[in-house]
Amino acid sequence: MSTFQELGLNDDLLHAITDLGFTKPSEVQEKAIPILLESETDLVALAQTGTGKTAAFGFPMLEKIDVDSRTTQGLILSPTRELCLQITNEMKQYGKYCKGLNVVAIYGGSSITDQAREVKRGAQIIVATPGRMKDMISRRLVDISKIQYSVLDEADEMLNMGFKEDITDILSHTPDDKNTWLFSATMPREVATIAKKFMHNPQEITVGNKNESTSTVSHEYYLVNARDRYQALKRLSDANPDIFSVVFCRTKRDTQKVAEQLIEDGYSAGALHGDLSQNQRDLVMTSFRKKQIQMLVATDVAARGIDVDDITHVINYQLPDEIETYTHRSGRTGRAGKTGVSMVIVSKSEVRKIKSIERIIKRQFEKKDIPDGMEICEVQLMSLANKIHNTEVNHEIDKYLTSINELFEDSTKDELIKKFFSVEFTRFYNYYNKSKNLNIAEGSFDRGDRREGGRDFGGSKNSTRYFINVGGKDGFDWMKLKDFLKEQLQLGRDDVFKVEVKDSFSFFNTENELKEKVLAFFTDFKHEGRFVNVEVSENRGGGGRRDGKRGGGRRDDRRGNSGNKSERRRSGDFKSNSDRSRRSESNSKSSGSHMSRPRRSRR
Ligand code: AMP
Repeated sequence: MSTFQELGLNDDLLHAITDLGFTKPSEVQEKAIPILLESETDLVALAQTGTGKTAAFGFPMLEKIDVDSRTTQGLILSPTRELCLQITNEMKQYGKYCKGLNVVAIYGGSSITDQAREVKRGAQIIVATPGRMKDMISRRLVDISKIQYSVLDEADEMLNMGFKEDITDILSHTPDDKNTWLFSATMPREVATIAKKFMHNPQEITVGNKNESTSTVSHEYYLVNARDRYQALKRLSDANPDIFSVVFCRTKRDTQKVAEQLIEDGYSAGALHGDLSQNQRDLVMTSFRKKQIQMLVATDVAARGIDVDDITHVINYQLPDEIETYTHRSGRTGRAGKTGVSMVIVSKSEVRKIKSIERIIKRQFEKKDIPDGMEICEVQLMSLANKIHNTEVNHEIDKYLTSINELFEDSTKDELIKKFFSVEFTRFYNYYNKSKNLNIAEGSFDRGDRREGGRDFGGSKNSTRYFINVGGKDGFDWMKLKDFLKEQLQLGRDDVFKVEVKDSFSFFNTENELKEKVLAFFTDFKHEGRFVNVEVSENRGGGGRRDGKRGGGRRDDRRGNSGNKSERRRSGDFKSNSDRSRRSESNSKSSGSHMSRPRRSRR
């Protein structure tokens, strides 16, 4: 293991490194810095975020540029505004003793004129997001014709986000003989193509294996019924009282919904997704950084560039579509040498994805059980006990001690402790006492897994089964129909289940609370020019609607005219329905509010 001196960095940089408290180079720094200092070369580095890669390209760039010149010599492209600001900040810290250095950040959502003015003052290094950079080039507000070093940071993310054309365009304004250093956590084909197109015989370094997850992260999965996902999330949080986590959802809507539910249930949570304004996102991120928020519920896109080092857990509330996205998610924890846990809540239909992820990240998942209520009570109790044990005494209390002592004159120490702890413990106990076991066995039957061809599709006491006059002939399979219904009805991922698609008609279920909403929505609803008719299926077993006549609903002029019509007319407005359904989705909410005080008191 080398030291920073041995890597060949100059005194100004070494001085800053001492100030920052970095004692030894990280693996990527040890591998990249000597190569970049010693030669004028292109470089492809496979490294996750959190491995110290900013310094791996930052130190050599700072060492090589001429701070006495006002010409822009280094360009760093990064996928998001957050990352762009983070890199700028780090570069400024690394170069704080390099007299005359000017590092400027260029990113969307902020005044372009202010940024242009900063550049004009003479920026040796520009850190930019591709969209804004392209904009500034086309308006001739920056000149990158003389840059000598370009960095493509988180190249895979930039390509994922559709910046390929912008990057190509930006690089076409740079000299051919510059050096390009590409950093990426994963190496999908698109990144390899970019490397081939823009780089000349790049040297390659790899930290860990390609696409491999960092060794500081352990991976766990929890198998539950799809409908218990949210309860499982709450338990995972309650079982880890000091959790500081990012909870990933697939859609903006689910992200908002889960965050709202958590907040309602008394957790310190916040949402981060693209439908929020930049200002709102900044506020959430500031609270998260200050740890005023314990659970940041985020979409993948919005979470890109989260630069928080102490995240203890990443929770995959839903698995991502792309397996590579999992690497990025889990890379948000276990940063800067710390350990972290990446948890996945899966329903039975998704469990096979775990195997695929294991193959790609080359790590094994541990199948774990969602803790039961009493385990959580114990964890919470012991956490409270430790907290009390470590609390500094506030001597303001001294003056009340005599009266308090009088009150407890007859109590033994044990009694006193029991009473004291009961204040908090009883709330948890009442909530979790008799709570059900959320775990399902891998071979058991999950409703989310039922699809065409399956059996036992009937409604249950709590759910309603519907008939709908579209089917396979209309291009639907169970998944497409589920997505269609979810989208039209603005429902969550788990709200539509037991979808069974026949040739010209289909069946599906929702919770009873959604019945009015579903039926009201499909009154006079047209899809691709014809009326879509939804009725409550009389035969809960699902088989009674198989007569071909139902397909009569395929006539273009057919209106919803079932026996349920009057019921549909009576149906209430959407808002009240969806509110009601939301309330019932976690019917623990009222009891969940008991959680709020113990949770908040821990902060
Ligand atoms: P990065 O991968 O560049 O996002 O870095 C992750 C975090 O590690 C940042 O907060 C850096 O300041 C920190 N860091 C970078 N290099 C070192 C090092 N050699 N020793 C300790 N921390 C480091």
